[in-house]
Amino acid sequence: MLASPTLRLCCAPATVLAALVVGACASADVPTDVTADVPPSAPPDTTFADGDRVRHPDAARLVAQDPLWARALALHFDALVMDGHIDTPSLMLDDGYALGDRHDAATSHVDLPRMVEGGLDAPFFSIYVSRAYGERRDAVERAMAMIDVVEQQVAALPGAEIARSADDVRRITADGRKAILMGLEGGHATRGRVDVLEALAARGVRYVTLTHSNTNSFADASTDSARWGGLNDTGRDLVRAMNRLGVVVDLSHVSDSTFYDALEVTTVPVMLSHSSCGALYRHPRNVSDDMLRALARNGGVVMINFYATYLGAGRVTVETVLDQIEHAARVAGVDHVGLGSDFDGVDRLPEGLEDATRLPWITYGLLKRGWSEQDVRKVLGLNALRVLEAAGAASASRE
Ligand SMILES: [Zn+2]
Repeated sequence: MLASPTLRLCCAPATVLAALVVGACASADVPTDVTADVPPSAPPDTTFADGDRVRHPDAARLVAQDPLWARALALHFDALVMDGHIDTPSLMLDDGYALGDRHDAATSHVDLPRMVEGGLDAPFFSIYVSRAYGERRDAVERAMAMIDVVEQQVAALPGAEIARSADDVRRITADGRKAILMGLEGGHATRGRVDVLEALAARGVRYVTLTHSNTNSFADASTDSARWGGLNDTGRDLVRAMNRLGVVVDLSHVSDSTFYDALEVTTVPVMLSHSSCGALYRHPRNVSDDMLRALARNGGVVMINFYATYLGAGRVTVETVLDQIEHAARVAGVDHVGLGSDFDGVDRLPEGLEDATRLPWITYGLLKRGWSEQDVRKVLGLNALRVLEAAGAASASRE
C-alpha cells in the first residue's frame, strides 16, 4: 500500500482476458468446477468447465500465436500461485468493495473471479494500517476491523477460505478453492507490544512488516529518517516473539540496517513480501544484491513487487518484472524468489500486468526464457509456502 491517501489506479487497455486453458491437467490443483467460484454477476464467457479442463475463450489464439502457451497454461493452472502482498482489504473496509464480484482493471486489481481467471491461489491480503494512526490504540482497532471484514466476506464465498498455515493452503487449494492469508502492513500497529502481536496472530495474521513507510518506536524504515540505526531492543523482542508465534518477519519497507539487524535476531526464514532489486533500479524500497545474498543465507524469500515506480523510470512491462525475477534468482538463488504484486496498493503497474488475470504471462515469460517447470513453480508459490511452513514449524516446536 502506498502512503498516499488517495489511490489512482491505472487504466488498463481492454486487454484480452486471461483465464486460459489448462491442458489435460487433472491435478488436484486445477479447479474442477470453476464456475462454482464465479458469482452470477461475472461474465459467463470468461471461464467454463469442461470435464477436468478449464478453458478460456482466448486460449486458442494464444496457443496459435505460440505453442509454448499450451505448456505455460497447463503449468500455471496446475502450480500453486501465491502473492506476498495484495491491498484489496483496504478497499473492502473503506469502500464496501465486494471480493466476490467482478471488477475491471481500471477500478481495482483483485477479486475472486479474477483470482480464478488468473490462477492466483493463495495471496497474502494486507491488513494495512496507515502511518497516520501512529501507535495509538485505534491503530489496533483499525487492523482488527479490517480482519473482520476479510473474515466476513471470505466466509460468505464458497470458493475461498481463510488460511492460517501451509497445511491450510494445501488443503484449501487442493479442490480449487482460494486460500486467503493475512499479513499486517505497518509494524506501528503492534504498538511495539508483544500482547498486541499475540492478539493479531490469534486472528490469523501470518506476517508483520516491521515498519511501513515510517520509522516507528522500534525500527527504522527505508523511506524515513533513521532513529535507531536499525532495530532497538523492543524491535528485537518483537522479532523473537514473531518467531515464537509463527508470524513471518516481513522485511519489506524497513531500512537496510533494520534488515540486517532482524536477520541477526531471527532464527526462522523471513520474507520480503513485496520488494524488488535495487541493482536494476535504484530506489530506497528496493534491496541490494548484498541483502539478497544475506536473505538466501537465512533461507527466506524476496517477493518481487510489480509497482512500476520501483521498477524503472521509463516504460515498464512484464519483461521488466521478468528481469527482476531473473536477477533475484541469479543473486539469491531460485529457491529465494517469489511474487509480491502490491495489487490494489499501487497506482502504476507494468504494461501487461494490469491485474490478477495477467499472472499467466509471468509463467509464459519464464518458460520463454528457458526456465524449467520446477523452477517456475518455486517462484510462483513453493518458495513462499516453504517460508510460511518454516515459521509454523518453528512455532510448533516450542509448544
Ligand atoms: Zn507496502
